[in-house]
Amino acid sequence: MTATAPALEFSTTLTSNPVPVERRSQVLANPGFGTNFTDHMVTATWTPDGWHDAELRPYAPLALDPATAVLHYAQAIFEGLKAYRRDDGSIWVFRPRANGERMLRSAARMALPELPVESFVEAIELLVRADADWVPSGGETSLYLRPFMFASEVFLGVRPAKQVTFCVIASPAGAYFASGVQPVDIWLSSDYTRAAPGGTGAVKCAGNYAASLVAQQEAIEHGCDQVCFLDAVERKWVEELGGMNLYFVHANGSIVTPELTGSILEGITRDSIITLAADRGYKVDERRISIDEWRDGVASGDITEVFACGTAAVVTPIGRLAWEGGEVSMGAEPGPVTQEIRAALLDVQYGRADDAHGWMHRIA
Ligand SMILES: *Cc1c(COP(=O)(O)O)cnc(C)c1O
Repeated sequence: MTATAPALEFSTTLTSNPVPVERRSQVLANPGFGTNFTDHMVTATWTPDGWHDAELRPYAPLALDPATAVLHYAQAIFEGLKAYRRDDGSIWVFRPRANGERMLRSAARMALPELPVESFVEAIELLVRADADWVPSGGETSLYLRPFMFASEVFLGVRPAKQVTFCVIASPAGAYFASGVQPVDIWLSSDYTRAAPGGTGAVKCAGNYAASLVAQQEAIEHGCDQVCFLDAVERKWVEELGGMNLYFVHANGSIVTPELTGSILEGITRDSIITLAADRGYKVDERRISIDEWRDGVASGDITEVFACGTAAVVTPIGRLAWEGGEVSMGAEPGPVTQEIRAALLDVQYGRADDAHGWMHRIA
């Protein structure tokens, strides 16, 4: 990575045409996920002489020339984090610097420019302050923030783009599970892998998701919700879901998550749970776990709970693992450890518990 780039200077142009209050109230009453966006966005442009035109401005479509590089070669990365409104009305985000640091690593892998972490955090602060009225309140609602960066140069040659756009948009999000936490069913993909050694699995690039979609489709066809991917070499080691990391709870009370191998995404939720579970006295191991250990462990009673984790769905119990010719069931109800970890994380995020690790960042 190059020497730290200078921080961006943001200018502000507020919208003269905000979404009418009644419409916004309607959206906030039933936000869903990823379909409604706030009044503003942040954009900035990079060229080889540095970042410029950093701006908070009215939310609007981007005009893209058909030869814009990202449309052809997918040089694109993104992040995802949430702003939470507390009962006292204040607004906080969870570990935004960790997302900024991960975006730096993603950018380095995808030959995209370095965006200073402080500028990443400032972009989020500007957007959330301008659109504070869009942060829902109550239950497990939040304002989902989507920073992303892509090759915006108009050029069909294959090389790292010399013009790049950074953008942050925001979308009110409802509780992921409208009717309480429901265990999800997982399909074990045998035809497809998500990430290979030396590939892009450890970074949040758009192409990882594109490549996971047919496996996801296969999961749906088999009556499942999500896909579990194995390692690409031995097809033996459990890696993660298409967009969530995995945790296993053992009968002896220890908790295991697959160790980071370079092809597993370094989830901030995953990382936070390692700390939170240890705080609560659990023994947490990061090690390889084979698909046979999962199947046999559930059958023998050694593995009592399995859950997935990520920003969008927080902590999600896994009820069933199915594959071509078989399945094991972890149970139709969320397990006690899953529920405890889930509550512990949400309590920090919504300010109901002490923030012992300094994870929360106040914005408004
Ligand atoms: C984003 C993502 C996760 C979860 O990361 P968080 O930082 O916890 O939201 C897990 N796996 C993949 C593949 C992801 O893209």
